[in-house]
Amino acid sequence: MTRALLCTLTVLALAPGLAFAAAPVVPTESRVPGGIALLDLGASPGEPGPVMYNDHRAPVVRNGETWTAVVGIPLDTPPGPQAARLVGAEGKEVRALPFTVVPKQYAEQHLTVKDQRKVDPNAEDLARIDREKVRIDRALGAYTTDFTPPWQMLPPVPGERSSSFGLRRFFNGQPRNPHSGMDIAAAEGTPIVSPAAGRVVEAGDFFFNGNTVFVDHGHGVVTMYCHLSRIDVQPGDPVAAGSILGLVGATGRVTGPHLHWGIGINRAMVDPALFLAADENPQPAAAR
Ligand SMILES: [Zn+2]
Repeated sequence: MTRALLCTLTVLALAPGLAFAAAPVVPTESRVPGGIALLDLGASPGEPGPVMYNDHRAPVVRNGETWTAVVGIPLDTPPGPQAARLVGAEGKEVRALPFTVVPKQYAEQHLTVKDQRKVDPNAEDLARIDREKVRIDRALGAYTTDFTPPWQMLPPVPGERSSSFGLRRFFNGQPRNPHSGMDIAAAEGTPIVSPAAGRVVEAGDFFFNGNTVFVDHGHGVVTMYCHLSRIDVQPGDPVAAGSILGLVGATGRVTGPHLHWGIGINRAMVDPALFLAADENPQPAAAR
């Protein structure tokens, strides 16, 4: 047996646990609210689609001999039957892509924030929140094809990753929207790196999210980084994997410095843990 062949065998044997192992073709599937459904589109010479779900276009990837739609499931999706749509070139439905969402009971989380206005915004704040919602929807709804989204990412900052995605939140005793991202504990000023190549689609100071950066990774996959102390990029900037986006801070509705990391697929915010290798996954911890 030649040395080259021996090396190959060694790499194959060790690959699953190594950082340089080939990235997976698709993310981890989890057909729950806030999860991802992988829908088989069968074999075809070219990319089938588009695939639409809740009026947003979902990524389609080649998966061996066949094609797979990667569909983000919004957190407020009721358990039960759902269907994405495979659409032809003229916009007509070619076939339904049914799947079943299984229930997941997310825990409650009670947080206390000092600034009561972040819990009960005044009329001026509400007008601002409405304007910002349009920008956020536009950023998270981006569908471009300049980049190919990665299905496995490194965390954008080192630190303790809390399993806080999906928690049903109460601020100062009042129910608010569920938590749609992953909080990572990190000191103020820690650099935040883009976990993949893409283009900055939006950046600015938002009422709840504080200083925030949105990065479009292509095909409906957009990541967001909130509560920054400083933003180092501008809309339109291309970023590489590892590019610094800004610094960890405590701006917006927070209890202390941390990074809020969100990932959207076809506009649905999904659990970022589905994009992390198993050894990068979060431990249960106090969320911020
Ligand atoms: Zn958060």
